[in-house]
Amino acid sequence: MPIRHFTKRLLSKVAWHAYNTYRKGLDYNTQFSQTTKILDAPRENIEAFQAQRLERLLKHAYRTTPYYREILKTAHSDISRIPPLEKQDIREHLDSLSSTAFTRKQRIRNATGGSTGAPLTFYQDRNYWNQRNLSVYYFDQWAGWNFGEPQLIIWGSLADLREDRPWKHQLDTFWRNQYWLNGFRLTDTAMWAAFEKMNQCQPQTILAYPSSLYQFAKFISKNGLTPLCKLKGIIASAEMLQPHYRTLAELVFKTKVHNRYGSREVGLIAMECAEGRMHINCRDLYLEIESPDPYTEPGEILITQLNNYAMPFIRYRIGDVGLLSDEICPCGSDLPILAELLGRTTATFRTRRGTLIHGGYFTQQFYDIDGVTQFQIIQESLKHCTLKVVTNEKWTEATHRYLVQRIQDALGTTVVVTVELVDDIPLPPSGKREYTISKVGSDIGDL
Ligand SMILES: [Zn+2]
Repeated sequence: MPIRHFTKRLLSKVAWHAYNTYRKGLDYNTQFSQTTKILDAPRENIEAFQAQRLERLLKHAYRTTPYYREILKTAHSDISRIPPLEKQDIREHLDSLSSTAFTRKQRIRNATGGSTGAPLTFYQDRNYWNQRNLSVYYFDQWAGWNFGEPQLIIWGSLADLREDRPWKHQLDTFWRNQYWLNGFRLTDTAMWAAFEKMNQCQPQTILAYPSSLYQFAKFISKNGLTPLCKLKGIIASAEMLQPHYRTLAELVFKTKVHNRYGSREVGLIAMECAEGRMHINCRDLYLEIESPDPYTEPGEILITQLNNYAMPFIRYRIGDVGLLSDEICPCGSDLPILAELLGRTTATFRTRRGTLIHGGYFTQQFYDIDGVTQFQIIQESLKHCTLKVVTNEKWTEATHRYLVQRIQDALGTTVVVTVELVDDIPLPPSGKREYTISKVGSDIGDL
């Protein structure tokens, strides 16, 4: 290994340790080994831990949130009798769902881009983030990740799309030993540069949006290139991992792709092991399938987040459909298995130059704009796009121009954008809101 790579890994390991000690306290190492111990434990120990955490959360919710005090009626509740928490409930009761045990300053605001449901704002606390990160470290190790080891990230970052890229992002990626390829704009030039960077930096793992990983793998394959790095594994997250994405990526990168299922609202939900099963993160959450028989009949996934005391999410309807499995996994983990994850798709747009624009590019830019209550972007053709908007009192002509500009920035300045102000954007039969729909190509992933 060249000396500069060795030094960088060493520096990054030290930086990771310092970061975690700063965030989680001097007993960070103990916390991490406790996390590992719980997640590696036999099923009965995991379930006992989970039940204890659940009881504590319900008591906390009853005592400190007006919303749950009203719903639960008592501090000792049976979770199966609690009505699921809908996204609309969070929108309407943001304040009464927030715990009075936390000051405004202690609440950390977060929001979803709305790729799997309507855009949503909510609060989390520092301990939630600490626990979330500990779980991510644990599960990412299943895919070969480790502190300080170089990682290629094929991800959407709006900061990377802007000329005024914040210095903080660059500093973060430096000390974390990460290299970024922007998944929202995968041009041939960007992919050539990323391929060269990958050979030079020798990442051990890749963390990627599945569709972007697929495009990168396809580019490498089409150009007859061979990656020179020896990857330990790939983590695919944030959208559905289509079977053909996996097949090509595993062929090109000669390593296993691990599917990771999570969300901004509740953190890491499940991770695929070496034997190809999705194990549920029972340390951080309690997962239910809304079905008469969750082992044979798929149903909507309900999640209770066990660590977020700033704003309890109890039986949160996340907007995905799943099925459980009762098989014992040969990998040795006793964590229960999510047999199938259905739903969750994000439309991908294509520009006239052939660049693919991930639907998340739009949802991330548009979800938090004053004046916009609801939106949907439809790519009618390579030359024409329709933007449907449900506006509110803050809508101005400047907002109109801004949205059109953002779409043209992504799809090309000659693209005609028709803005339709509508009263409502009805849900499709699936019940899942579609923010981006592309009519260009039936299977854009195969273009
Ligand atoms: Zn397993």
